[in-house]
Amino acid sequence: MSGTLPSTFRAAIVNEPGHTAAYGAKPDEVRPVKFTITDVPLKAPEHGQVLVKVIASGICGSDVHILNGQVGSQFPHVSGHEIIGEVAAIPATEDHWKVGDRVGGGWHGGHCFFCTQCKRGQFQLCQTEAINGVTMWGGLAEYVLLRREALASVPTDVDPAIYAPILCAGVTVFNSLRNMGIRHGGTVAIVGVGGLGHLAVQYAANMGYKVIAIGRDPSKRDESIKFGATEYIDKNQNAVEVLQKNGGADCIVVTANSGSLMTQLQAGLTRGGTLLALSLVGPTAFDTNTLITQQLQVRGWPSGTPIDAEEAIDFAKNFDVHCVVQKFPLDRIQEAYDTIDNGTVRYRSVVIM
Ligand SMILES: [Zn+2]
Ligand SMILES: [Zn+2]
Repeated sequence: MSGTLPSTFRAAIVNEPGHTAAYGAKPDEVRPVKFTITDVPLKAPEHGQVLVKVIASGICGSDVHILNGQVGSQFPHVSGHEIIGEVAAIPATEDHWKVGDRVGGGWHGGHCFFCTQCKRGQFQLCQTEAINGVTMWGGLAEYVLLRREALASVPTDVDPAIYAPILCAGVTVFNSLRNMGIRHGGTVAIVGVGGLGHLAVQYAANMGYKVIAIGRDPSKRDESIKFGATEYIDKNQNAVEVLQKNGGADCIVVTANSGSLMTQLQAGLTRGGTLLALSLVGPTAFDTNTLITQQLQVRGWPSGTPIDAEEAIDFAKNFDVHCVVQKFPLDRIQEAYDTIDNGTVRYRSVVIM
């Protein structure tokens, strides 16, 4: 590798998965997620990989699941899948990316090109999909090895701290919304005004939908209206009643971590409407009677591919969709993570290397 690269780099390693009350730990068994900033050897990229020097790396709500061992990552582990950085080294076989290119890495970390879904061009459904910061080490480190086919090109005139969360939170809400077939002018309810939700409100409003935001916290009313919602429903109001007064939602996008909320809000859909689940809550009940008789749909959506990320960034630039971030240096990653874990972050914690 180039002589300008260090032989080691600092990574925010989690040595063993956390075990918290949310994942069934009894009070005397609770083991919080603990980061250790560790120097690890820098490896040269192999064929198919690119070495990226990380500039900014967001912490996603799913990192809590990942670091509590819920999605099968091997420990010691480095998570992080909202990465913007610069290509620092390429293998001799690399003929597309160049050292110095500004790139992004999201949830989608690589695909095989040969399974049925890949042959159809549905790379995010690849049967052997690699996931950044899940099946491989992620971006909460000074350097990360990413797969060439999963890199998004990122313009150099955007702030990496503000745009890093677009690589997962942004593309997840943008790409799912644009694939739901919601009629123009339709009503979209965004449930949970957090990292994903505050971006979903902005994307949906700029896509031309009437947006109703639903959250617990009355103090998020003004900000939600500023993000583009026409109305904000807090925990003291009956969300289903308000939605039905508006004719029912064409789409209810649930970013809040609550299965029972999904069950309850199904009744807020208009006939033919869609409930889009974007939070990892596990098994959840739905009323099949109204699903059938009112032709409702319950759907999920797994983020997107590099072109989806590039288009999510482009849309954010053109319509001033703005991720509100709190920046932390790598040394303060524990604090950055804890704001996500305890729900106090407004609206996304981003680690700046
Ligand atoms: Zn994510
Ligand atoms: Zn595949």
